[in-house]
Amino acid sequence: MMNTIAQRLTEVRNQITEACHKAQRSPADVRLLAVSKTRSVAEIEQAVAAGQTEFGENYVQEGIGKIAELEHHSDLIWHFIGPIQSNKTRDIAASFSWVHSLDRAKIARRLNDQRADSLPPLNVLIQVNIDQEDTKAGVLPADIGQLAELIHSLPQLRLRGLMAIPSAAADTAERASSFASMQSLYSGLQAQYDQIDTLSMGMSDDLFAAIKHGATTVRIGTAIFGSRPSDKNN
Ligand SMILES: *Cc1c(COP(=O)(O)O)cnc(C)c1O
Repeated sequence: MMNTIAQRLTEVRNQITEACHKAQRSPADVRLLAVSKTRSVAEIEQAVAAGQTEFGENYVQEGIGKIAELEHHSDLIWHFIGPIQSNKTRDIAASFSWVHSLDRAKIARRLNDQRADSLPPLNVLIQVNIDQEDTKAGVLPADIGQLAELIHSLPQLRLRGLMAIPSAAADTAERASSFASMQSLYSGLQAQYDQIDTLSMGMSDDLFAAIKHGATTVRIGTAIFGSRPSDKNN
């Protein structure tokens, strides 16, 4: 493949627009998060030059290193989307604007306590283990309410919505059904809290289905940067 990152970004943006038209939604309502885990600063620079401003990272040390190196781009917005260990919350709270993978009370309290008062509240999404997989992070649907209530009470966190990664083993129909369940859980949360505006779901392979079921943020890695030979993540 001779395509450049800029060309692939254009293609992904076109797919988002097409998916929105099919779903009778406005393309302005879907944000593209470029998942840059394992990618070099030089590759991220190419995406930035092509107009991409939001990036997602899965590994704390790797992420904060890149954030520091790219600090001269003052308009970049960094999202933490990987599993969170409690000894990493301080670095996450200091360097990221968003966390998509919040799934327990202890981590919520630590992020709140460690987020500096000089920074705006950290935007957080509750990760939902929508297919109830033993090995996957995330709260079960029945436990969203309790965690949401805690987050809502913490001043340095701002609850913005939900995130999910459907089972890799799911077929197209099963995945659509998981996305539909997420859409309904998301509506339930919106009915309870004012500021809920983000449903993060959909990756390179299932962006159309996710947008059809109301995703407001899609997290795309491979389709922008190419395949990840060195991927450490599942
Ligand atoms: C790696 C990753 C993505 C991107 O996946 P692609 O298939 O490369 O688009 C999205 N979300 C999370 C949580 C990831 O870890």
